[in-house]
Amino acid sequence: MSEILEIIQLGNPILRQQAQPIDNLADERIQTLIDELITTVAKANGVGIASPQVAESYRLFIVASRPNPRYPNAPTMEPTAMINPRIIAHSTEVVKGWEGCLSIPGIRGLVPRYQAIEVEYTSRDGELHRQELTDFVARIFQHEYDHLDGIVFIDRVESTQHLMTEKEYQERISLH
Ligand code: ZN
Repeated sequence: MSEILEIIQLGNPILRQQAQPIDNLADERIQTLIDELITTVAKANGVGIASPQVAESYRLFIVASRPNPRYPNAPTMEPTAMINPRIIAHSTEVVKGWEGCLSIPGIRGLVPRYQAIEVEYTSRDGELHRQELTDFVARIFQHEYDHLDGIVFIDRVESTQHLMTEKEYQERISLH
């Protein structure tokens, strides 16, 4: 069983750094980090986690959508490591949805994201993938991708009126 890593929180300068590309994917430390990120995001009831959130400033994140107490309506998918990801194209349509972040506990925000994106990334076995993502999974990708550029979701809300505590979110939004 992999180790659970400590998730750093807003205010830690590592979250604001530009993360470095990975060029040594065969490195055992990188493969171990991927395993640990997958374990850590599952334990934290997250649907995604980016490497900078565990103080490892690499261009790597996990998309791990599945229903859990924090996101009851999330679609189910295998946890997928995306290395050196890029957004190649995106829809003109932008949709607003409520997001949270394991590095900003207790806060939700209404964040505009592209409804669909075409992405490219390398998987942990070194293979290059190109695929279209839509809706909630596209939202996770864009949220995690921002972490690689030092951006967090509260930077993207259009108004501070679009912020809410987790408690109010659970009572007012989550069940509707
Ligand atoms: Zn986040």
